[in-house]
Amino acid sequence: MTTLTVSRTHYPVTALGPGNRLGVWVQGCSLACKGCMSQDTWNPMDGTKVAVDDLVRLWREAVDAGADGLTVSGGEPLQQPAALREFLVAADDVRSTAGREIDILVYTGYEQSEMDDLRWRVVAPADVVVTGRFDIARPTSLIWRGSANQRMVLRTDLGERRYADYVDHAPERPPIQVRSDAGGIWLIGVPRRGGLTGLERGLRGRGLDIEDVSWRR
Ligand code: SF4
Repeated sequence: MTTLTVSRTHYPVTALGPGNRLGVWVQGCSLACKGCMSQDTWNPMDGTKVAVDDLVRLWREAVDAGADGLTVSGGEPLQQPAALREFLVAADDVRSTAGREIDILVYTGYEQSEMDDLRWRVVAPADVVVTGRFDIARPTSLIWRGSANQRMVLRTDLGERRYADYVDHAPERPPIQVRSDAGGIWLIGVPRRGGLTGLERGLRGRGLDIEDVSWRR
């Protein structure tokens, strides 16, 4: 049984790709970008080992519920290549029977120059891949990207049709979603530079002190 070590999943995610999406955050990333907002996903020994079959079941439920897409983020998805590929291939099969267009978006911290044939093969079912480390010194207003060096690579006709307008799109405010569950309060989306410290300041101003945040370890 193949397992993928996962930090969390959420549905519906509306702030990382168009429409309502299943979000899967994998656990484990050794790239250690300064200022990473998801440092809770770095340690590969944390998280939960989830059978790929169970993730596919979750995805099928999301598709049945009307999902527009799947977003895989992290952590670094490509540091679990075999399980990721198995999941993406199965997710591709599920969406192909849905009778409507459903896209797959994968985030990776690897630069395009680091995406060798093997890595591209792993993410082959993805319509769109956002590549590149988070570089705190290169802020951006571009939607769904954390820094100006990150590239939104459109790999399929569906990716072109659905995402072309977003490649250079810089909304007034980045889409951010807040969800809570037993594991904590989750910010979903890509905040702009200063957004997280501003959030902490705002909460403190309302008498709320948050101690354990994923952007500071
Ligand atoms: S920004 Fe992404 S690639 Fe960089 S350390 Fe964080 S999880 Fe890893």
